[in-house]
Amino acid sequence: FTVLAIESSADDTGVAVVTSSGQILSNVVIKQHTVHEGYGGIHPFEAVRAHQRNLPGAVRDALSVAQLRATDVDGIAFTRGPGMRGCLGVGASAAKTLAAALDKPVVGVHHMQAHALTALLTEASAPPTFPFLTLLVSGGHTLLLLATSRTEFRILATTPDESIGRVFDKVSRMLEIPWTSLGPGAALEDFCRDAAVQEGSMTVPNLPRSMPGVMGFSFAGLHSAVERFIRTQGGIGCLDESTRRALAAEFQRAAVGQLEEKVRLALKWSRGAGHDVRHVVVSGGVASNAYLRERLRLTVGDASLGSPIALVFPPPALCTDNAVMIAWASMHRFLAGDVDEYSILVRPKWNIEELSV
Ligand code: ATP
Ligand code: FE
Repeated sequence: FTVLAIESSADDTGVAVVTSSGQILSNVVIKQHTVHEGYGGIHPFEAVRAHQRNLPGAVRDALSVAQLRATDVDGIAFTRGPGMRGCLGVGASAAKTLAAALDKPVVGVHHMQAHALTALLTEASAPPTFPFLTLLVSGGHTLLLLATSRTEFRILATTPDESIGRVFDKVSRMLEIPWTSLGPGAALEDFCRDAAVQEGSMTVPNLPRSMPGVMGFSFAGLHSAVERFIRTQGGIGCLDESTRRALAAEFQRAAVGQLEEKVRLALKWSRGAGHDVRHVVVSGGVASNAYLRERLRLTVGDASLGSPIALVFPPPALCTDNAVMIAWASMHRFLAGDVDEYSILVRPKWNIEELSV
């Protein structure tokens, strides 16, 4: 069974062709970064315009790389939600119209479910077994989920304020770390890589880890603590390079420390609730951070208590927004004949705990 999928929930336009055996025949992602520079976030109208401009070409490219014609595809999937209403609409209309014209079935997919199920595709030789934990850390999300089946998820922790990726970006900019092609988050990691020697430096205060003992994230307090420290020092121009490095390192320790603590709590909670978790899947742009990987390895190792818990990092290209994951998450529904009506509408706000409601 071959699925063509469209992802357009935020700022990236994705189209992919994937088979039921897990073969990725094509994966086209058109990013919009340049469109939104200067707005300080995704600009809704500009994002819609970019999807409208890019989607037809992306569909053609995805088919051509897959060496298929539209009529060779067996089903069309699209991201139904959550996401920006206008953006979702562009992908949904295209997918439904294509499907109706070709007389093929259509499936609307939950974007976060798709992120969570990606590891089942990428780790095909040793896929995580249910129940597993999945930690999604990106520019758009900071989310810890318990997946008990392909369609049943429980949100263990999320952030009411900023996402971890956004805060990495903002702190990196505040510290005036040059980032070129790396992006601000990865540049921050680079900048403080050698700062370990300055651990415990007198000039940098300990930054808050936020809500100890509670399974929930929050990064606004950490963000403003960094801002406050810089201000009390008389501005970023008054901090020498080694202090800036020490501050970046302490920020990274505090941000990742929060992830460590919540994963530890989640594993403990899961065990208490009778869920035999053997895998922790970590994905999203921030998951490429080497310090995070090292710390989570220790966390998961500590929490194993006899039965080993595997830490899984799917490849970055499939952890950031893409249509491969949308195709893959739709597959079990196509195969079961559980498909949607052509009249189905998008769901910009859609709780992952209510997939079938
Ligand atoms: P989403 O996919 O959730 O809608 P997004 O497109 O912003 O949002 P990603 O592309 O998954 O998210 O991730 C980008 C984020 O990851 C950025 O905030 C970036 O700074 C951060 N990031 C990338 N590499 C690193 C790193 N090595 N350390 C810390 N943060 C990083
Ligand atoms: Fe996403």
